[in-house]
Amino acid sequence: MRYYSTNHRAANVSLEEAVVKGLASDKGLFMPCDIRPLPQDFFDNIEKMDFKDIAFRVADAFFGDDVPEEDLRDIVYDTLSFDAPIVKVKEDIYSLELFHGPTLAFKDVGGRFMARLLRYFLKRQNHKQVNVLVATSGDTGSAVANGFLGVEGINVYVFYPKGKVSEIQEKQFTTLGRNITAIEIDGCFDDCQALVKGAFMDEELNSMLHLTSANSINIARFLPQAFYYFYAYAQLKRMGVKKDIVVSVPSGNFGNLAAGLFGKRMGLPVKRFIAANNANDIFYKYLQTGEYSPRASVSTIANAMDVGDPSNFARIISLYGNSHAAVCADISGAAYNNEQIAESVKQAWIDEDYLLDPHGACGYRALCENLRENEVGVFLETAHPAKFKETIENIIGHTIDIPDKLQAFMQGSKQSIPMSPNLQDLKKFLMLGEL
Ligand SMILES: *Cc1c(COP(=O)(O)O)cnc(C)c1O
Repeated sequence: MRYYSTNHRAANVSLEEAVVKGLASDKGLFMPCDIRPLPQDFFDNIEKMDFKDIAFRVADAFFGDDVPEEDLRDIVYDTLSFDAPIVKVKEDIYSLELFHGPTLAFKDVGGRFMARLLRYFLKRQNHKQVNVLVATSGDTGSAVANGFLGVEGINVYVFYPKGKVSEIQEKQFTTLGRNITAIEIDGCFDDCQALVKGAFMDEELNSMLHLTSANSINIARFLPQAFYYFYAYAQLKRMGVKKDIVVSVPSGNFGNLAAGLFGKRMGLPVKRFIAANNANDIFYKYLQTGEYSPRASVSTIANAMDVGDPSNFARIISLYGNSHAAVCADISGAAYNNEQIAESVKQAWIDEDYLLDPHGACGYRALCENLRENEVGVFLETAHPAKFKETIENIIGHTIDIPDKLQAFMQGSKQSIPMSPNLQDLKKFLMLGEL
């Protein structure tokens, strides 16, 4: 399978090149040239299959030309070492719990898959060494670092803003050691992202170190997220749900929603999607007006969705041939402020006995407000509420339990390298190992 760039000014590339490079040479995002629908008998029997086998069939449609069946099966099975159950929250509304992985957020699926696929390609390239750079405002750093931990031939550098991630989040990528290096930037998230982008643009650095990105611009991180949309459908079918399915996706950089849209294009019977935003409502405004106006992000209690210029917007409009009308036919929007998010967390807790995290709360609320006749809704519960312990405890008014898996991260001691948001300092460090 070949991959094109959303900017259309770079030649098409192989999967291997798309994964190892991350970003196209014209700074566009890679897209598969072909989206192959899955056969009807797959959908007819999907409720009898388990998560891993469903995921393998989806992965095979994208990656089967480029990765031999046995290798691809190993990569998929090894990635999905955890479940993604559907849980009924109330009549016609279900939570797809994506927080059962090692770092308790949905990014574990893409992080683990990308690490394994990259390792496979590096083995074929005579064990070339690559350096993965990733900027994080919290959850991406932990999922990527844990996904790549101990993977031969790959060094990971996680850039995070000093004092701006929660203690739990920080521990998840600063206590690992081995091939993971945490770099604490004296600045904000935008500074971290600018630094990483600056490093990719620097030819000297790139030719010496083979840099790649593990943010959701990488095709190997975002496409595997399609797996759990199919698994959600299988579970609903098993439960005997017959109504039209609406999927509500709490969105920031829009990688998760884009993966769901790919699923629909492959034949997944989802009637429509809802993109749930927080106060960073750039996509919501685009749906209303047809105009895309990126702006600086504002901080909210659903901080993983604080994105002012979502990178996967380019993939979504490319998928719909740049037609605003076509986008609107499949996706509607919602946007909620902190007060509304808190209100929904509290309401679901009191009335339904279900504890939401602030991101999932946006998805849940969008379903409560927008479901129509003969529809059933699934929202993606993108992280475990305990990752946002303080926020949640303030909302519901009492303490919550921290799962053992999360608690275990708290035991390690923090190791990170303080750095200024200055590219020259980073270059010196990466090339010479000194500050
Ligand atoms: C990253 C993240 C999101 C946003 O996902 P995108 O794919 O960037 O739209 C939502 N919720 C949580 C908890 C996240 O970590």
